[in-house]
Amino acid sequence: MSDFLIKLGKNTATRKIIGNLGVSLPQELQRAEGPWTTLPLGAKNILVGGAGHLDQCLAESLAPSGANVYLTNPSPETLSLFQGPQKKWDDSLFVLEEEDSCDKVDGLVFDATSIDHPDALTSMYKFFHPRIRSLGKCGRIVVIGRPVNEHKAPAAAAAAHALEGFVRSVAKEIGKKGGTAQVVYVETGAEDRINPILQFILSKRSAFISGQVFNVNKSVTAPTEIPFEKPLAGKVALVTGAARGIGATTAAKLAEEGAKVICLDRPEDEETLNESIGAFKGIPLLYDLSHADAAEHIAKFIKETTGSVDIVIHNAGITRDKTLGKMKQEVWDLTININLSAVIRLTNELIEKAILNENGRMVCLSSIAGIAGNFGQTNYAASKSGIIGYVQAIAPTLAKKGITVNAVAPGFIETRMTAAIPFITREAGRRLSNVSQGGLPQDISETITFLASPGCSGVTGNIIRVCGGSLIGA
Ligand code: NAD
Repeated sequence: MSDFLIKLGKNTATRKIIGNLGVSLPQELQRAEGPWTTLPLGAKNILVGGAGHLDQCLAESLAPSGANVYLTNPSPETLSLFQGPQKKWDDSLFVLEEEDSCDKVDGLVFDATSIDHPDALTSMYKFFHPRIRSLGKCGRIVVIGRPVNEHKAPAAAAAAHALEGFVRSVAKEIGKKGGTAQVVYVETGAEDRINPILQFILSKRSAFISGQVFNVNKSVTAPTEIPFEKPLAGKVALVTGAARGIGATTAAKLAEEGAKVICLDRPEDEETLNESIGAFKGIPLLYDLSHADAAEHIAKFIKETTGSVDIVIHNAGITRDKTLGKMKQEVWDLTININLSAVIRLTNELIEKAILNENGRMVCLSSIAGIAGNFGQTNYAASKSGIIGYVQAIAPTLAKKGITVNAVAPGFIETRMTAAIPFITREAGRRLSNVSQGGLPQDISETITFLASPGCSGVTGNIIRVCGGSLIGA
């Protein structure tokens, strides 16, 4: 289902006429095409500033990804990475004066790790105020701070939390031009995990994530090697509900990045499943997750085909909407069973039988309905909210095995499901986001693939909304 306002906006003349009437059309989001590359931020101009101690770490993260790094106040150690006899990179660092900017800014990164009092927030204002208007279309803003609970003094905790309010608001201001903003809270000692996260949120692959909080911690061991290209080569993934929609797009994306993918769906969807997975030679697995023995059956199948898995994507889900008074118990039970209980049963089986490998990755599909609630969806919202509780509770246990687990909560995504929503409701769903449009299944697959990648060891127990910064569930 195409978005007629985005189609209109593609025509420059129409865009101008409508703009003259005081109405702005949504900016078509720039999305990445094809597999991951060696230079994820190739030729992007990223300005880095701040009041923290991460300038060297940030420069070391951004330079190898192909970005032109513009630093304000670099330390001598950071400068030596780019200049002088010990330099590691050529021609990709530029030093800026206090209020300077460059011609076209693709990203603004602010290090707020040393801000420990509300008064010090002025430095954040001083960095963004002269530069925000130079941010180009679909630009990115990232603010990096220390987790609120690391601060002992209440004033310091207040300042750390203030970063969230700032980011959520600035995301609304830049959303009209397709821009996004996120805050990354980095635990002390987990600085070496930031690199892949920055590369993702500064790239086109995070086009529909806006106003979100990423918590980076060191509870899971980091891999020694993080490949830029084909990051999932040699890995085996299991995707449930892979016949269509988000599951089909995700299975294809994981395969594109090198994974062998076991694609599960219901036996009655055999034809659709085979059509979806033929191009990347996915391994079909037909079983209904609502059956009591499904977990056992799936574990046995994996043992006999690939021996084990490295990545599990709990994607299969159903909606059975009815207001509570009209909802039959069987509809309630089925929704909770497939969307939540089956996820727990399968995870338990894969862990108990040691089928999910050490250094594994697990991603569960939640929904903004599980955060905000939705009319007629008490069963669905309960199941998706349950996923959030499950992910947060199981993360520390899985961390001991080197496994990360996160939830992705999609907002309004242009699928068969949302195309069936009545026009007015559909328009409200689209326009209530910072970027005034819905997302695409690709936006969810990109996020899942990022969370499933070896480099994403610093992100576990997170709930990432992929909703364009929707007002719903805020
Ligand atoms: P979809 O209906 O297009 O696909 C879901 C797949 O799961 C189907 O192929 C279906 O056959 C499979 N499935 C359902 N029950 C199953 C069972 N018992 N056993 C095995 N397979 C089963 O849905 P989608 O829109 O792609 O959604 C995927 C996930 O994302 C779901 O968990 C959904 O709740 C969540 N989500 C989607 C959106 C959205 O806008 N599309 C928004 C929020 C959350």
